[in-house]
Amino acid sequence: MKLPYAEPYKYKMIESIKRSTEEQRKKWIKEAHYNLFNLSSDKVFIDLLTDSGTGAMSDSQWAAMMTGDESYAGSTSFLKLKEVVQKITGYKYFLPTHQGRAAENVLFSVKVKEGDVVPGNSHFDTTKGHIEFRKAKAIDCSIDEATDTSLLHPFKGNIDIHKLEKVFKEHPKEKIPFVIFTITCNTSGGQPASMENIKAVSNLCKEYGISLIFDAARFAENAYFIKTREKGYENKTIKEIAKEFFSYGDGMTMSAKKDGLVNMGGFIALNDEEIYKEATVYNIMYEGFITYGGMNGRDMAALAVGLDESTEFDYLESRIEQVAYLGKRLTDFGVPVLQPYGGHAIFIDANKFVPTIPRDEYRAQALAIELYIVGGIRSVEIGTVLADRDPFTRKNRYPELELVRLAIPRRTYSQNHMDYIAVALKNIYDTRHEAKSGYRIIDEAPIMRHFTVKFEKI
Ligand SMILES: *Cc1c(COP(=O)(O)O)cnc(C)c1O
Repeated sequence: MKLPYAEPYKYKMIESIKRSTEEQRKKWIKEAHYNLFNLSSDKVFIDLLTDSGTGAMSDSQWAAMMTGDESYAGSTSFLKLKEVVQKITGYKYFLPTHQGRAAENVLFSVKVKEGDVVPGNSHFDTTKGHIEFRKAKAIDCSIDEATDTSLLHPFKGNIDIHKLEKVFKEHPKEKIPFVIFTITCNTSGGQPASMENIKAVSNLCKEYGISLIFDAARFAENAYFIKTREKGYENKTIKEIAKEFFSYGDGMTMSAKKDGLVNMGGFIALNDEEIYKEATVYNIMYEGFITYGGMNGRDMAALAVGLDESTEFDYLESRIEQVAYLGKRLTDFGVPVLQPYGGHAIFIDANKFVPTIPRDEYRAQALAIELYIVGGIRSVEIGTVLADRDPFTRKNRYPELELVRLAIPRRTYSQNHMDYIAVALKNIYDTRHEAKSGYRIIDEAPIMRHFTVKFEKI
């Protein structure tokens, strides 16, 4: 019998989490106006709101923190981190920032101008925000397969070469500052891009003289999928694979809160000296001096170790297999989830789960609330609440998918927690026909309403 995967680490320290009763949770969620963002974390048993900055650091990372050099200029922690980033990405220039969106802000301040277009694969919301804020347009060139929730395509994060070339043909080169390639693609469900596709996008970019930037928050998870799904990469290490795909691009922005295995941080890495020079000016204005960019020396020290650990196969296998384990348990119970399972999260298809709740009563939100009441599990709605209102008509925008995302923090929860989550959802699924009504909004902000919106039960 083949030995199963197991975590390549054991526990040295634990953090208590609190159980509670359904009665308590009913009261708490009502007091929070049925918005899961309003719950204090001690009222949550298993927190799957996000995988961003919520993972556990290793003893090596904590040890590295003690060596953090807090010098304003020339911190040796910066130099160490720079060396690791160069080793893993191959890019020559490096600028630390306080998190991923700050890296976007700095780089886009140099490159993105009013009237520009920035093609990519389902841009992340802050990425899109930083493009649109500059009165430029994000154009989604994802492959059509990306929106079919049950299609077992191995690389749903791929860019459609024909859609991309159409953008290149319809706009002058000067209006396309770069292509942004998100690996893995969170917006389409944590789905990876293949090396073949990255290479093809890179070749097309070269042909048209346009640069290619990676949004690399989950690059190590993407490399794992290439190793396990793409022919010719079985025997390559994660680090070799990552270095290869980075070599097809001109630079990257990184949220270190994901595959950096730290709680806060980010960076830009680049090959172009001119862009780097311009970016340093914005980095100093927005983030801090170029050798810390909003990060503590100790945080840079921990990130250097984290990047090395997250690009090791055994860690990635236990990480991604744990997510898949939850997906498989849910599938076995008949719960409709997005396929294939994502690298960092499982997405529940609320349109299939609770079609009995009207869409204008926020069925995915209703399901997320029920999961909290039944199990003390905090998830997040990715549906009509998040899609917000049309800025002109002020009517609700109804996206194609109504999802509940279960994002799994790295190295944080056990297989027993996964079983607990699966059974909580099974119990809801078994009584789903009784769910007839959802929620009504009683207060909302003009934009980004999901963070502060208040609901009442219908
Ligand atoms: C998280 C994330 C960002 C933004 O990073 P922050 O650290 O949250 O500012 C950008 N792109 C992707 C794909 C992300 O997952």
